[in-house]
Amino acid sequence: MNIDSIKNGFVIDHIPAGCGMEIYQLLGLDDLDCSIALIKNVGSRKMGKKDIIKIDCDITFNMDILGYVDPGITVNVVREGKIVEKKTLDLPKKLVNVIQCKNPRCITTTEQELTHIFRLTDPEKRVYRCFYCEAKAK
Ligand code: ZN
Repeated sequence: MNIDSIKNGFVIDHIPAGCGMEIYQLLGLDDLDCSIALIKNVGSRKMGKKDIIKIDCDITFNMDILGYVDPGITVNVVREGKIVEKKTLDLPKKLVNVIQCKNPRCITTTEQELTHIFRLTDPEKRVYRCFYCEAKAK
């Protein structure tokens, strides 16, 4: 893959096609000043189509967010224009402040200062439930 445009940053690869925007939002990339590319529907031998996000700055982000969207996502760490590390992900057992509960009666909707916690209750179907009210995440 061509990473010419990136000096120090990350290439988030193997994102399932259509999930790039969700990751963009969950990682809060809109708030960054550096150059970011979201490339959609890239041809992939393994996946058919995939999305790729390139971030040209050295930020720290919560890898659990990526594992939650899809544990098959890979993260390439780029330093001085070269890939120096490839990170693979696990399905996180717990999500802290990644997503918010959509149940209007959940205590987290009234108690704003509460930490948003979701637990993985079914690893095979990738079901996450709210720690407080047991509502499903998706
Ligand atoms: Zn809840």
